[in-house]
Amino acid sequence: MAEYSEERLDDVRTRDRVVDMMARRGVELEEIAALTYALQGERIPELTEAICLEHVERVVMKREVQNAILTGLELDRLAESNHVNEPLRSMLMDDYGLYGVDEVLALAIVNVYGSIGFTNFGYVDKLKPGVIARIDEEGKREDRCNTFLDDIVGAIASAAASSIAHRYG
Ligand SMILES: [Mg+2]
Repeated sequence: MAEYSEERLDDVRTRDRVVDMMARRGVELEEIAALTYALQGERIPELTEAICLEHVERVVMKREVQNAILTGLELDRLAESNHVNEPLRSMLMDDYGLYGVDEVLALAIVNVYGSIGFTNFGYVDKLKPGVIARIDEEGKREDRCNTFLDDIVGAIASAAASSIAHRYG
């Protein structure tokens, strides 16, 4: 049987799988929620990290988001374990600045909640707050590739921030 299906139940199963994949790459949803809070906390006084986590959970239930996570984290992992051919492997391992496909893939996540997400994503990508800085630093290790992970985490936080903005208008 195929490992994927059109069923709603499958989104829940895939949610567990992508959350587990991120945990194995050292990122918990709570840290992403903290980043979302950093993006929106000042603007919305009644916001809490728990509410942010609910929105992060909502984001990782979306199939487009799950597919982007599956794809990006797999490429990071394959590059690390030397299963990617050159010249791509070096571009991924070195987080080559002109590669750009990592940001483009992450836009598939941001896209789900519209234009506010884009603004937040640009902001996160530039300032690299909190968990993003840690992921970036870790990615500089010779044996580590976080080229897709930083953008994916930033995009999930931005999408959740956008979901919150729609809710609290
Ligand atoms: Mg990147």
